[in-house]
Order: sequence, then C-alpha cells, then structure tokens
Amino acid sequence: MQVAPALRPTQTAGSHTSWHELAQRVLDGYSVTADEALAMLRSGDEELLDLLAAAYTIRRRYFGNTVQLYFLVNAKSGLCPEDCHYCSQSKLSTADIPRYSLMKRDMLLDGARTAFERGSKTYCIVISGRGPSETELRAVERIVPEIKDRYELKVCACLGLLTPEQARRLKICGVDRVNHNLNTSESYYSEICETHTYRDRIETLRAVRDAGIEVCSGGIIGMGEADTDIVQMALALRDLKAESIPLNFLHPIDDTPLAGTHRLNPRYCLKALAMFRFVNPTSELRIAGGRELQLGSLQPLGLYPANSIFLGDYLTTKGQLPQADYDMIEQMGFVVTRGASEAI
Ligand code: SF4
Repeated sequence: MQVAPALRPTQTAGSHTSWHELAQRVLDGYSVTADEALAMLRSGDEELLDLLAAAYTIRRRYFGNTVQLYFLVNAKSGLCPEDCHYCSQSKLSTADIPRYSLMKRDMLLDGARTAFERGSKTYCIVISGRGPSETELRAVERIVPEIKDRYELKVCACLGLLTPEQARRLKICGVDRVNHNLNTSESYYSEICETHTYRDRIETLRAVRDAGIEVCSGGIIGMGEADTDIVQMALALRDLKAESIPLNFLHPIDDTPLAGTHRLNPRYCLKALAMFRFVNPTSELRIAGGRELQLGSLQPLGLYPANSIFLGDYLTTKGQLPQADYDMIEQMGFVVTRGASEAI
C-alpha cells in the first residue's frame, strides 16, 4: 500500500485540488484513510461538484460510462422473527405490507423474465427471515439452474444468515453472488438490531467468500449513525473486498421503529456515494433503496460516483418507473450494459 503524501498546509482535505489529487493517488493504488473519507462526508456543499468530478475519474477508469441494472424480487415477504429497526418486515413492524411465504416457481421465473427483458445484469432473489429454512434452500437450489438455463442473467441470493454448508450449496446450484449487508458500523450495529450481531453478519460473508461466491454487501445511511460509522462501514467493506456495494438511503416507513426519521439531504447522500467510490474504487457501487426519496432531483448526479442502480420497485417500497431510469441514464450520456467492460 502506498503512503499518501501529506496534504500541504495550504490545502484543506477538501480543497478543489486535493480531491482530484486524491483521486489520482487512488488510481495509482493508494488506499484513502479514515480521516480522508470523513473529510469527504463533512466537506462543504460548495465543494460538491469537485468531489463528484474527482470520484467520477475513478468510476470512469473501472466502469467507463456503463450502468448496470439490478432487478429484485421480494420472494418471501414479512413474517420475520428478527428486529432490524429499519425494516418493514421485522417482528417490530406493524407496517401495512404484503406478507407471504416463498413464491412458487412460476412467479420466480416471471421475475427473471422481467429482469432480463428490462436489461438487468442481475436478478436478485430476496427472502425475509433470519436465514433460509431447508425447504426454502431446496427451492432456491431448484430454481437457480432453471433461471440460468433460460436467461442470460447473474443470480444474487439474499437469504439472510448462512452456514458454510448452506453457502456451498448455493455455489453448487449456480448462485453467482450473495447479498448480505453490513448495514452500518460494528459499533452502531446494536442500535439497529438486537436479535443478531454484526459478527453474525461477518461470519456469513466469510462463509460466502470461502464458498467461492462473490460478495454483495452494503448498508443504509440515515439511521441516526455518526459520520464515523459510515466511514467504518466503507472501510469494512474494503477489507471484505466486496465485489458489489448497494448503498441504501433510509426510507423511513410508517409503523417501523425508524418511522419519521429524516436526517438526510441529497447533497449529503452524494458525498457518501463519492466517499464509497474513493474507498472502494473497483467495487460495483449501486444506488439502492431510498434513491428517489432522498436524492430527489439530484438523482442523476449519483451516477458520477455510482455505476449501478436497482430498476423498478424495492422490497416493500416503490421505485420510479423503469422508463424514467432509462431516460436518466441516456440523458447523462451513460449506457446500460450487462457486463462491466462492454462499453469501456
Ligand atoms: S432486514 Fe431481513 S432479517 Fe432484518 S427484519 Fe428485515 S427481513 Fe428480517
């Protein structure tokens, strides 16, 4: 790892020159420090465009102007015994959401067809719960090969906590990636969930990695955490070498413990995306849930640091119409691709 030249006394961490210089150092192999990452989150709004432009130089090196689309299906909704405070499907939530057990084969295949027809690179099968039951795991083992036979799609499974044996079974049936979010920092974790721990999540991610499956792991911003928690999460994801990082912005849902929590503004969300790009230069960075709500009219600017979005709806909240996303991408001069290198 290279050591960063110290910032000159006349430069602040967030001065115009230093964001671009820092991006250049990142492109030369430098790993940004926690202090530098923190300075991005705390930079002034007047520096925002420079910060985004610097982050874009990193994004452009590894992803060109491509955008990868993800499409998810909430394959099992609600009924979860866990208590994640942000989640409308938790045992603490009385939110008015659909509640159903694992979807049947035909519905999962319909979801895959929609994902493919809409130009998605990856179909994400998400189930609520602490971890998959044997019945659920077997259903996933049956459907994944069928999906991959029919469609040119990567499959990402988000099934909760996994044992090493369960992770191996997912690898064998053809799952390309497993999503399991860190969600926040280790020190803040107990504030958002008490039924499992940050360590439990890390162990699942290790099992996924050991099984030879790509790691998709990200988090949620806006749950009352400090800036330093967000930086710790970004650095932890760097340590985990997550291939894919979905960054959610809290969509506070009525009748959940975090209902009424409004701590974000669009500029801060963009700074967070830029910081994640600097810290994790080669990872896919996806603007995930809360994009429409929290970025508002600044959504398109998020594509300068990020190279991926979810298309359509989220787990229990609505996304904007796919055509609005296609238009946004096209108007920004970016192109949808199913692969990382097609348009670079
Ligand atoms: S995030 Fe997952 S584990 Fe936590 S309450 Fe929601 S469905 Fe359950």
